[in-house]
Amino acid sequence: MANVKLKNVVKNYGSLEVVHGINLDVDHNEFVVFVGPSGCGKSTTLRMIAGLEKISGGEISIGDRVVNELPPRARNISMVFQNYALYPHMTVRENLGFTLRIAKKPQSEIDQAVAEASAILSLDPYLDRRPGELSGGQRQRVAMGRAIVRHPDIFLFDEPLSNLDAKLRAQMRVEIKKLHQKVQTTIIYVTHDQVEAMTLADRIVIMRDGYIEQQGTPLEVFEKPVNTFVATFIGSPP
Ligand code: ADP
Ligand code: MG
Repeated sequence: MANVKLKNVVKNYGSLEVVHGINLDVDHNEFVVFVGPSGCGKSTTLRMIAGLEKISGGEISIGDRVVNELPPRARNISMVFQNYALYPHMTVRENLGFTLRIAKKPQSEIDQAVAEASAILSLDPYLDRRPGELSGGQRQRVAMGRAIVRHPDIFLFDEPLSNLDAKLRAQMRVEIKKLHQKVQTTIIYVTHDQVEAMTLADRIVIMRDGYIEQQGTPLEVFEKPVNTFVATFIGSPP
């Protein structure tokens, strides 16, 4: 059974429909990347899966539950945004453990989860620093670490690398791929960057104007684009 299932999912803002009934099955441990031009509905779709936006029609299931009416905290999802906000007055260690402290988990459990996330993301040397003393890439790793400590079933990423320079983006792509191999979770990742999509995805979902134009492995969409939009966007040879 699919881990995340979208059935005819629609989103309107007032009288404007921005997502027009999309269908998608995401498997356990699959790395699915949504890619498409700015404004095509990627973030809206991700936010509906997270429960941050109400859906206007259709159905979203996670595991065997329909989650249409469930608030974000009941969905066992972690989301990493482009403008990740770390708490500036807290150390990296405190930032990593924050959501577990709020959830009143025992200290031993928090320590263990923080140690694990820190090891996965190579944050050990920085645990006692504050975000202001870190580079952009290190801060982004802390943001990912904060998402990991909750052991979510599903990770959602919305353009997590857009604020980083090209070199760092390339490094972070490798980090994210490693992260997926180590933690074995389902990842749904949004980007407008074709290279990022092609290198990270098990399956790539190409969106345009609120529709899914095509989905398939990176090789499939590259070699057999369904139309010129996909071909141009992905950069397939003519
Ligand atoms: P993407 O992430 O692909 O760039 P979005 O999902 O953010 O696109 O936006 C899809 C469309 O929905 C755009 O036309 C955008 O202007 C519109 N939109 C997004 N959020 C809102 C909102 N809160 N109110 C009205 N329109 C919105
Ligand atoms: Mg967006």
